[in-house]
Amino acid sequence: MQERKKYSKGKTLGRGTYADVFLATLKSDPTKTFAIKKIRIAAEQDRIGISYDTLREIRCLQELDHPNIIKLYSVFSTKDQNLNLVLENLPRGDLKQLYLDATIRYSPADIKAWMLMVMRGMWFCHSSFILHRDIKPDNILIASNGEVKIADFGLARTFVDPGQKRPMTHEVITLWYRPLELLFKAPYYGGAVDIWSCACVFAELVLRQPFLPAPTESSLSQIRTICERVGSPTEDNWPGVSKLPDYVATSEVTPQRTRAAWLAEFRILGEQGADLLSKMLALDPDKRLSAEQTLRHPYWTSAPRPTSLELLPKKG
Ligand code: ADP
Repeated sequence: MQERKKYSKGKTLGRGTYADVFLATLKSDPTKTFAIKKIRIAAEQDRIGISYDTLREIRCLQELDHPNIIKLYSVFSTKDQNLNLVLENLPRGDLKQLYLDATIRYSPADIKAWMLMVMRGMWFCHSSFILHRDIKPDNILIASNGEVKIADFGLARTFVDPGQKRPMTHEVITLWYRPLELLFKAPYYGGAVDIWSCACVFAELVLRQPFLPAPTESSLSQIRTICERVGSPTEDNWPGVSKLPDYVATSEVTPQRTRAAWLAEFRILGEQGADLLSKMLALDPDKRLSAEQTLRHPYWTSAPRPTSLELLPKKG
């Protein structure tokens, strides 16, 4: 049977920039539900057919199988030339909706549980040589059992093989979650870009508001925001930074944020949590912890223990 005929389409679950998302059930077993993401190819294409972003999303997702990464079951096209992704249905919203809901209270142990799942998913992506490149709280979806899953791989791509040395595009990652190496247009970058974005999500869960929101939507404004809150990059703390193509020296050099300052703002994470956060926000991508190193950090095993799945707060 044709793939598209296997599903009955249900109500609309949401509308995104490039896609409409519908609930669907399997005709042969209506207890099985899915989310079908119908990508509006007509709007996205420029006479060349399916965009590279869409193809990347498909290729990346099909390769990845991990509890903290959204599952892509299949792909089909419809008569109207739209591309349909049959995804795991994740009906409990995303981390952004969760922290914006003032009626939901959550604890440091809950944040630890969510971040542990995010970092496990991230580690799996990176060990499969896939960068996500658009990590933000609205792209971390929540399953009915409380698990969180990295979604929206539209901008994901495979790591450049270091032997190949193909320069990579910089126009990735929503500005507030973008690290300095991308803002300075470093010709090569790696998993460290996702770690920076994960750290921004970590801080945002604590603050219940974005951590590095530049006042205006420009690279310069974002660079200034990072320098003010994290510290300015210098040849001392990041050898080679001043040679990067779009490096700009800010008029004032803000010293690196101290341990005490991290702990003061993120006290609820404890010493270990504040330490992990600061190491995920190292300005020099070579000094930033890798996904694997974050998982070995003592934060996860220090008190409090991460909340178990069934006890995690979620939207009704
Ligand atoms: P786009 O990539 O075009 O911005 P999104 O992936 O953000 O589209 O999807 C739009 C909306 O659809 C989301 O805000 C969410 O409400 C809903 N949605 C997306 N994926 C799922 C899913 N797997 N399960 C349930 N709802 C989803």
